Amino acid sequence: MSGVQALGFSANVAPVNGSIPPDSELGESRTEGAARTDAGLLADYDILRLRASNPSPLTLTGTNTWVVGRRPTWVVDPGPLIDEHMRRLLAAIEARGGLGGVVLTHDHSDHSEAVETLLEVHPAPLAAARGRADITLADGMHVGPFQAFFTPGHAPDHYAFIANGACFTGDAVLGDGSVLITPHQGAMSGYLLALTGLRLREDFNVLCPGHGEIVWQAREKLEEYIAHRIDRENRLILALNEGLRTIQDLLAAVWPEVPEELRPAATATLAAHLDKLEDEQILPRGVQRPSFENEQW
Ligand SMILES: [Zn+2]
Repeated sequence: MSGVQALGFSANVAPVNGSIPPDSELGESRTEGAARTDAGLLADYDILRLRASNPSPLTLTGTNTWVVGRRPTWVVDPGPLIDEHMRRLLAAIEARGGLGGVVLTHDHSDHSEAVETLLEVHPAPLAAARGRADITLADGMHVGPFQAFFTPGHAPDHYAFIANGACFTGDAVLGDGSVLITPHQGAMSGYLLALTGLRLREDFNVLCPGHGEIVWQAREKLEEYIAHRIDRENRLILALNEGLRTIQDLLAAVWPEVPEELRPAATATLAAHLDKLEDEQILPRGVQRPSFENEQW
């Protein structure tokens, strides 16, 4: 049994009500059971979502850039360098009284490509875990309105950010489906620990993911993600116990529903699961391991 399974969860955690920003200009519409839409997020949390037009199997409907608070505003993941996306982002920053800074959930280009151009127009500090950053993120660090929360798994430099009663989850939790976990050191165990840590926090009640829709049932979604991971691990252990050893057989047994274009993502996630079992010394001998030697996650 993994540590996460052993922890268990209380299903009765009160929703967060005290973390709504006090100076929302649209405060009049802040009512019990706010509209569960982008407009509701803007009205009650002062968070604007801008979705870039870079849809794909991995980016879903496109990358979400989040514009948080005002005078000055902060940006989570400027996104890809697409003219229309930049134009809307710059207009939002303008309307919100300038840029206080930028935080990056991770440095994959669909989240970070526009950083340089944005900071040329609006010089401001950049907080990220790797690459050229003014502030190098660490777990628990406060940056602007955010608290950084280390969430390895999708990438070794991945952080979530908590502010204004929301958690910006990048590619650690998406609006739809599950995420690609990459095989870096401690990826899968770190990921489960991060999901569990987020689940136990009480300072947010909505998830703002890197891709897909706003998640208003934050706790349920985190529990679903934890359960999903544990389910895949259990299926993998079962398949190994049945004697399956090749990548192809393990994928077929554990990820039977994955379409062809997401097979490389499933293979990387399989590798991360196998790494975890090896670390826990429960991986049988003779298992074929995916190789990603030259891959930069
Ligand atoms: Zn992404």
